[in-house]
Amino acid sequence: MSNNKTALIIGASRGLGLGLVQRLREQNWNVIATVRDPQKAADLKAVPGVRIETLEMDDVASLDALTQTLKGQIFDVLFVNAGIMGPQHQSAAQATAAELGQLFLTNAIAPIRLAERFVQQIRPNSGVLAFMSSVLGSVACPEGETIALYKASKAALNSMTNSFVVQLPEPRPTVLSLHPGWVKTDMGGAGADIDVETSTKGLVEQLEAYSGKGGHYFVNYRGETIAW
Ligand code: NAP
Repeated sequence: MSNNKTALIIGASRGLGLGLVQRLREQNWNVIATVRDPQKAADLKAVPGVRIETLEMDDVASLDALTQTLKGQIFDVLFVNAGIMGPQHQSAAQATAAELGQLFLTNAIAPIRLAERFVQQIRPNSGVLAFMSSVLGSVACPEGETIALYKASKAALNSMTNSFVVQLPEPRPTVLSLHPGWVKTDMGGAGADIDVETSTKGLVEQLEAYSGKGGHYFVNYRGETIAW
């Protein structure tokens, strides 16, 4: 059964991306989900009715291939979820150019390249373009100093998203920069505040609540506004 809505979820092998796919399928959305390696996507394959595509978001050839594969498809939601923490030391002094390049490419640049390719395929008026940001991407956030490089990469994502959105021709989709909470995933760790189900249930509620509003918002999984 389908509710006639379609979502494209980027980075769905595990964690929050997998959770988003599960919540949307529970509500009978059509879901197209991307993974880097389909051989390592057993949990995603266990969700019934999901179309799985391959994408390494950092690789332009891989982005081009997905663009071709999904040509003509219309999305009610495009959710760019994939992201990384960066080097364990999180130190500006120690970081190599390669470490910084990888972190900022994956977290701040590749999401925008992806959005550029697919934004015209988001349903006019009601469609939502969502980026998985973090409250740590707020430049006034006093927390997260031990993961300073990651934090800066999410601030860069928010800034890149702003520049992307203001250049979009009308009509624009609603754009969300979302904070999922501190969530128990491989990235968030076992000591995090909330589980994937709680976070993704709230995130899906925001996708529904903001549909049709237009504009660009920075909100958490409970719909609370975060200062840029
Ligand atoms: P996770 O468990 O580490 O999962 C990260 C996902 O991103 C995996 O599916 C991974 O694929 C994918 N990915 C990473 N680099 C990619 C690339 N270059 N191309 C395609 N896919 C890529 O992390 P998570 O906690 O679910 O985090 C998901 C998002 O939420 C991230 O953007 C993260 O920054 C953000 N976030 C998380 C928290 C939290 O508390 N957990 C809080 C704030 C924001 P593979 O399986 O192939 O590695």
